[in-house]
Amino acid sequence: MPNYDAIIIGTGQSGPALARRLVAADRKVAIIERKLFGGTCVNTGCTPTKTLAASAYVAHAARRAGDYGVRIVGPVDVDMTAVKARMDAVVAVYRDGVERSLKTLQGCTVYEGHGRFVAEKKVVVNGSELTADQIFINVGARAAIPPIPGLDGVPYLTNSSMMDIDFLPSHLVILGGSYVGLEFAQVYRRFGSEVTVIEFGPRLIPREDEDVSRAVAGFLKEEGIDVRVDSKMIGVERQQNAIVATVESVGSLSQIAGTHLLVATGRRPNTDDLGLDKAGIGTDPRGYIQVDDQLRTNISGIWAMGDCNGRGAFTHTSWNDFEIVAANLLDSDRRRVSDRITAYALYTDPPLGRAGMTEMEVRKTGRPALISTIAMKDVMRAYERDETKGFMKILVDRDNKQILGASFLGLEGDEVIHCVLDIMYAKAPYTVIQRAMHIHPTVSEFIPTMMDKLKPLQ
Ligand SMILES: Cc1cc2nc3c(=O)[nH]c(=O)nc-3n(C[C@H](O)[C@H](O)[C@H](O)COP(=O)(O)OP(=O)(O)OC[C@H]3O[C@@H](n4cnc5c(N)ncnc54)[C@H](O)[C@@H]3O)c2cc1C
Repeated sequence: MPNYDAIIIGTGQSGPALARRLVAADRKVAIIERKLFGGTCVNTGCTPTKTLAASAYVAHAARRAGDYGVRIVGPVDVDMTAVKARMDAVVAVYRDGVERSLKTLQGCTVYEGHGRFVAEKKVVVNGSELTADQIFINVGARAAIPPIPGLDGVPYLTNSSMMDIDFLPSHLVILGGSYVGLEFAQVYRRFGSEVTVIEFGPRLIPREDEDVSRAVAGFLKEEGIDVRVDSKMIGVERQQNAIVATVESVGSLSQIAGTHLLVATGRRPNTDDLGLDKAGIGTDPRGYIQVDDQLRTNISGIWAMGDCNGRGAFTHTSWNDFEIVAANLLDSDRRRVSDRITAYALYTDPPLGRAGMTEMEVRKTGRPALISTIAMKDVMRAYERDETKGFMKILVDRDNKQILGASFLGLEGDEVIHCVLDIMYAKAPYTVIQRAMHIHPTVSEFIPTMMDKLKPLQ
């Protein structure tokens, strides 16, 4: 029975990095991967979707070439085989990089197969029993499939199977109007598909402020995406070559016939087939592994990192989990999950960069706050680029002057948000940014100006 100092299950965003740190600290490590090295982000998440979005942006820009005085003779044609080949090539660089680096890592043994607990400190993979005093779970999550009548009888797509598409779906129906669904919606619309988004809630991306949802819905509709909110898919069936969804919307029924259906209604952790009960590891009712502020499970010597612990759903939160575990274990540095500030982006075009609380959340706290908003049409850089959709919004605490949150929906919003995020980590007052000299012409140069225009949040 091979005995290790540490076993890592899954090669997502935290596992491989932790393997490297543990090996550098002279630990004998086993790492287990059942499918694709690098996990969701590299293979079916961030990397392929942003690569597709880059192709879609070029198609969109080419169609707008005339606005910039550039003449393209003939129609803009998207070669989906080439788009997919480009995506596959980018993904392969990262996936192969993770695989190669682990397989050549001295002191680390790679097992390719499904890992499952059979006892507290014992994991079985491909019939071999591995033991270790320390076990790290980094098994990630997958698309959640809602129990809609007829869904299991139609060939629906998820974020994973979308990666196999090398043709243009004539009409892509997307179930779910949140982050994953909206990115695919815009990308495929720009490639030339007809796209319908069906969202159960009263607005898209319901976790965001209403003005953000409205603006995102606005520019998606302008691009020709059919956005149906307050709409519940109550059944779906195949009729010849079409997939026909029955949708209930404010009491009335309608049918939407598409050629392809993407289900993007959230994620569920890959913990149901992990033998957690054999190890006595606790989960919440949705299957997320329960962890403390340093990502320890209820069983001593077992940690859970990344999406499977329910404390984050992003590549950077999983990476941060690795940093927290490594710092506590190897550096005597008591880093905690609660030290981090909410930060993420929605990669539509323009993107939404988010940090800290939304306006909704600030209002719920009831604390006195100040707010400043600027429309992207008033940002010179955006005007020069003729990419003026969206707005930027910052909220600060009136009393201690610290930034509470920001939503930057606009050109480079995913990058510009970091000038706010770092000030938030520094716990510095907003006056630091207000007095900083930023570079002209950039989107960031307007952040100090926004601080001049703070007014009470009514
Ligand atoms: C379409 C889409 C787009 C996204 N875009 C972004 C983005 O732009 N930015 C961002 O920050 N996040 C994005 N995310 C989220 C991001 O991909 C995840 O948060 C990130 O991959 C975290 O992964 P992880 O470390 O938890 O594990 P994962 O990357 O999910 O990896 C887990 C690994 O464990 C393996 N595994 C599971 N069970 C077992 C087992 N029993 N035995 C052995 N191996 C096992 C899996 O095969 C997998 O390789 C996106 C997600 C999706 C779906």
